[in-house]
Amino acid sequence: MTTPNRTFCAHTLATLRPLSLACGFVLALAGCTTTSPFIIDNKSYHSQGQEQRIKFIVLHYTVGNNERSLKQLTEGNVSVHYLIMDHQDDKIYQLVDDDKRAWHAGKGAFANRTMLNDTSIGIEIVNPGIKPEYRQVLRQTDAEYYAYEHYMDFEEVQIEKVAYLVDKLAKQYDIDPTHIIGHSDMAPSRKIDPGAKFPWEKLHKEYGIGAWYDEFDKSYIMNSGEYETASIQDIKQLFRDYGYDINDTDEWDKSSRNVIYAFQLHFRPQQPTGNMDSETYAILRALNAKYVDRD
Ligand SMILES: [Zn+2]
Repeated sequence: MTTPNRTFCAHTLATLRPLSLACGFVLALAGCTTTSPFIIDNKSYHSQGQEQRIKFIVLHYTVGNNERSLKQLTEGNVSVHYLIMDHQDDKIYQLVDDDKRAWHAGKGAFANRTMLNDTSIGIEIVNPGIKPEYRQVLRQTDAEYYAYEHYMDFEEVQIEKVAYLVDKLAKQYDIDPTHIIGHSDMAPSRKIDPGAKFPWEKLHKEYGIGAWYDEFDKSYIMNSGEYETASIQDIKQLFRDYGYDINDTDEWDKSSRNVIYAFQLHFRPQQPTGNMDSETYAILRALNAKYVDRD
């Protein structure tokens, strides 16, 4: 059964009754409204089974400068919810409303979810990424991955803005600390941003933002000799448990090493090698002990 909506146009009825044929035109001009016999009651009942749609915050660097980044993010096919420029001012630019989807994440996965554009808020930070003198280093040398010193520093004011914004959003949408991630965490074979100079440890220790391991747990696991007996499959499962999307081959192939590199960019940024080692293992285990095994 359908009940057609009535178009009620008070302004038209009161003053322009003879010209009612022009109501469509007047509707647009005079703010006339469409009414219905039905109301939507959003107060009387509530479902228990509901949750926030926004589950992740994904951080990026833009590579471009302020002007280029702004142009790309406002005029191009790529977009993001928030842009943090490197101006020494108090502005954080919101380019897309939180409840709308922005196109910043692309293909990838984290915590068993793909389509992260649908479930995340994206924040772009203006930063050149790799220093110009090192941009050809992977092509010209045997190096497979960029080192810590290849990445450009962020401005302190940018980190303060990120801290303020992420703290606000994480509280507002009740986002799990392990779901505050870098683009590289969700797309390790395509992306390396926000890079080794993004201070995840500082954000956690000084602002209580995102995930970080307990030093004691890391040392304990490193000294336990556990790494020496762990199989590749065991270690890959730990990556998976924490949220990384990693294949199940029995070797550290390039795709798996890209995951190790992304993990190191986030949790051991001074030495990102793409190779598994006892410290990387201990950090991964300590993170799982703190955030995953508790569930
Ligand atoms: Zn990115």
